Amino acid sequence: MDTTTPSKKLRVLAIDGPAGAGKSTISKLVAKRLGLFYLDTGAMYRGFAYKVLRNNIDPSDEKEVKKLVSTTAINFDNGVTVDGNDVTREIRTEAVTNASSLVSSYKEVREFLVELQRSCAISHVGSVVEGRDITSVVFPDAQLKIFLTASVEERAKRRAIELGDIDVAKIYQEISLRDKRDSTRDVSPLIMPKDALLIDTTGRDIESILDEICRMWHKADTESKEI
Ligand code: C5P
Repeated sequence: MDTTTPSKKLRVLAIDGPAGAGKSTISKLVAKRLGLFYLDTGAMYRGFAYKVLRNNIDPSDEKEVKKLVSTTAINFDNGVTVDGNDVTREIRTEAVTNASSLVSSYKEVREFLVELQRSCAISHVGSVVEGRDITSVVFPDAQLKIFLTASVEERAKRRAIELGDIDVAKIYQEISLRDKRDSTRDVSPLIMPKDALLIDTTGRDIESILDEICRMWHKADTESKEI
């Protein structure tokens, strides 16, 4: 094998990071600016978790949760549909948030959704894909990989504003628990690969982050065309 020739990368901008790091806000705006498709993989895990709850299945009952995989159809295009029903709003409740953090640790659930995420993003000319394992597992060959982070305090404050909930201490606890689950699970834990670029969003304004990411994307896009 010729190891001196760089391989062609996928025209994907992969963004990972913990809850509340600003992934959704930044990914959506970056996709709009660059004219790329936007895929929120967390919304897919949430959609599946929603179905688990609707079927009165305990999200911690792995055996029962796994059974649902083969009979579920999930689609993402601006919003999420589960078995043909639009659940974009319903998946933002606290119950679904907690259930998605649990069901996303099951291997079968991840395999099912990762395959959907790959085919969905690849069917577009270019995509911004955000989640927890996009840079490491879903698209390790993405042409640009970003790891967004922020302090837990700042992430809890942002979530509190987003949810209109003043109990920042409670949100801090929830975010810390989700961080722990996401980064210590056996299957596809949240990690930052060596070739991903770290951006700490703490105290930074959105515009400067958008400029930085778009600059890097244009550079990566140009380099990829030269290969
Ligand atoms: O990003 P969001 O908070 O909407 O994700 C909901 C949950 O789905 C996360 O807490 C995480 O456990 C899980 N998730 C994941 N892998 C992804 C995206 C989300 O495990 N690629």
